[in-house]
Amino acid sequence: MNKASTRFVIRSFNPKCNCMKLTNTLVVIPFFFTLLLHFTLHGQSGSSEIYKDIKKLGVLANVLYVAAHPDDENTRLISYFSNHLSAHTTYLSLTRGDGGQNLIGSEMREMLGIIRTQELLAARSIDGGNQMFTRANDFGYSKSSAETFTIWDRREVLSDVVWAIRKIKPDVIINRFNTDTSRPNHGHHTSSAIMSVEAFDLAGDPASFPEQLNYVDTWQPKRIYFNTSWFFYGSREAFDTADKSKMLMIDIGSFDQVTGESNSEIAGRSRSMHKSQGFGSAETRGESLDYLDLIKDVDGRIPKEIFDGIDISWNRVQGGAAIGTKVKKLESTFDFKHPGLSIPLLLEIYSSIQKLNDSYWRDIKLAECESLINDCLGLFVEVRTNKYRASPGMVIPVTLEIINRSDLQVDLSSLSFSETDTSQFNSPLKYNQVFIKERKLTIPDQLSTPYWLKDSPTEGMYVVKEQLLRGQPSNPPAVSAKVNLIVSGTPVQFTVPVVYKTVDPAEGEIYRPLSITPSVAVEFEDDVLVFAKGDERIVNVTLTAIQDSVNGFLRMKTDKPGWKVSPDSIAWSFTKSGETTTLTCTITPPKEESTASLRPEIITGGLTYHHKLKTLDYDHIPYMSVVRDATVKLESIDLKIIPRPIAYIEGAGDDVAEGLQQIGYDVDVIDPASISASMLSKYQVVILGIRAYNTVDALAYKNKILFDWVEKGGTMIVQYNTNGRLVTNDIAPYPLTLSRDRITEENSTVTILDPELEVLNYPNKIKSNDFDHWVQERGLYFPNKWDEHFTPILEMKDTGEKSTQGSLLITNYGEGHFVYSGLSWFRHLPAGVPGSYRLLSNLISLGFKNSKS
Ligand SMILES: [Zn+2]
Repeated sequence: MNKASTRFVIRSFNPKCNCMKLTNTLVVIPFFFTLLLHFTLHGQSGSSEIYKDIKKLGVLANVLYVAAHPDDENTRLISYFSNHLSAHTTYLSLTRGDGGQNLIGSEMREMLGIIRTQELLAARSIDGGNQMFTRANDFGYSKSSAETFTIWDRREVLSDVVWAIRKIKPDVIINRFNTDTSRPNHGHHTSSAIMSVEAFDLAGDPASFPEQLNYVDTWQPKRIYFNTSWFFYGSREAFDTADKSKMLMIDIGSFDQVTGESNSEIAGRSRSMHKSQGFGSAETRGESLDYLDLIKDVDGRIPKEIFDGIDISWNRVQGGAAIGTKVKKLESTFDFKHPGLSIPLLLEIYSSIQKLNDSYWRDIKLAECESLINDCLGLFVEVRTNKYRASPGMVIPVTLEIINRSDLQVDLSSLSFSETDTSQFNSPLKYNQVFIKERKLTIPDQLSTPYWLKDSPTEGMYVVKEQLLRGQPSNPPAVSAKVNLIVSGTPVQFTVPVVYKTVDPAEGEIYRPLSITPSVAVEFEDDVLVFAKGDERIVNVTLTAIQDSVNGFLRMKTDKPGWKVSPDSIAWSFTKSGETTTLTCTITPPKEESTASLRPEIITGGLTYHHKLKTLDYDHIPYMSVVRDATVKLESIDLKIIPRPIAYIEGAGDDVAEGLQQIGYDVDVIDPASISASMLSKYQVVILGIRAYNTVDALAYKNKILFDWVEKGGTMIVQYNTNGRLVTNDIAPYPLTLSRDRITEENSTVTILDPELEVLNYPNKIKSNDFDHWVQERGLYFPNKWDEHFTPILEMKDTGEKSTQGSLLITNYGEGHFVYSGLSWFRHLPAGVPGSYRLLSNLISLGFKNSKS
């Protein structure tokens, strides 16, 4: 087995990959994708890039690569197909990776999904591929495809894979994973392969998802492969002796003399864009083998090469043969010193492509031609403004800057933002003379909310009603301009996004996309506000001005009777953008259990907004202003609490302390280094945050002080820790052994082992319905061995697996109580799960009944 493959496998299945981690939580045209990342049409491609693009103009081939998450994709293959074979190569990631972990910031869930979406786009801008997604929501780790299919809407995800095939029209599909359910793999991975194989058979059938045929034609790919490696065989030795008669072996280490880069160097740079996953990668060199294992070929052949038997030339398009001849001539006559000499022939090809009936290849190749014409002219086109945030109705200044650096006759004919907003020019663009024009732009009423977050997602699916939006990697630019030129008598149109540009004394030029935001953003402290039923509470809501000189009212809107918010309307005003103010209101829950939503509405200048604003500012992806619905969930819980002073020791970070404060507990977050017997005497309960024994070094010696304090009557509750790299093995006063046991089915059956125990009765009676509506999983890293002093409280079981009693263990220790629980309180409390609050309140109350302290 060669070394390069080994490296590849280590990288793809790196234990750091979120996918394998146990703690997890209308394509318009390909040109559209590049538009998202290139803020301007710079004439900066040199001759080597132009030559590469001319070769691509002559290739009409399509590859679709399918997997489940951002970072699953084999960038070396994507780069190989895109750069070495000049094929249009698209990565379809079923999810946006929201369920993973974030190594570069605090964003989780949907915000992490946005970061990982942009990381994929950044990777594709390097390796030359395109990017698509389905509506599947990454709900976290899944043990099997069977479990995955109970959470994803299988038919809808399948319809998105079929849609991608019909949009992209791939000749060849390649799956990253195999369909084998007998070997352990992330359920999302296996599901991606299963659905890809199903979609291969369905995309060509007009009876499948016929509603899509209003927009696309059916399409039958020629063949489908599995991108295998020794990993799937268990060992290198097993793979060496495996039957490879249906496999293609590809050396993806090819070197391109024209660009001076080898394919695996490009792939290494591309993979390094997955920074939120910690995937900085080496740029390797030299021969490197990858294997494609044939799953199916529609003609039953065993191909000798990837496009064997498929015409990938211009001949595949009706009327394309003559264009193919011209493109060959373009390639053979290209003058590296004078790219402008290619323009007349390029314009001829451009006009011929415009006349094609085949709209699919016509649109793709016209975009490629426009890009080539731009590069050969040395053209720079930019439409910029001095704001990166503007609200609907605002009028902002924009500047068109354009320069022609060729000898050819180029005239600017018009600049257009919409059909009703067009400026005519008819101005000649003289050689190397900057043309600048100032204009005003009225901001349209379309906020920059990621399209898949406009409607509330379910656990397994994003809701995207518009068929043409499905699959798109991201929103199109907030505002684009059409710049119409006449190049040597031929009209050519370039579409450029309106961008913010400034010059920073240290950084130089800074570009940001223009985002459309409300004039004032509004946000509560938490996404879920929890109340013990009947107990009113004061909550804060923060307003931030995004525009100068705004004023208006904040109005509170609940959707259920019984909830009272007072006052229901508050006046505010701001003079400068960036100012913030915190307003308070009293929320009174009804006297019974109730779930409601509360929408804070900003009423200003005749418009109503209910949005919060988050900023993403990372160097490897575009600066982003993300606008999202600010509506929060209200949860009134039938809950009794015994108010006891609680000390919280933070571990890797969670919102459990905030959840307890919301329902009325006094919680101090304490510095672990300050733990002493006298300091602990103030408290009756100590809770350790998630992975505290993995992350807090001081616990290696403070644990004894804590256990002594328990012995004298304290109650200590330890949340989950992983079994690797503990700061001490003494994580409890009596021995227990952590395992990787976890319950990933959040609705799995829970058996109460002894309903008579005090912890299940005081102060709240715990019943089976307390285990309803839990989120993502029950818990993780449960102990699988424990000292006989411990009493297991619950038994749980995932489908098809052995049951475990390790989720919640309690022991008396001296006068006090010690609890070890791998239940995912850090997920269930912030989500407002009533049963999780009742059970944790009972744990906090342990020992109170007898001590009456
Ligand atoms: Zn994955």
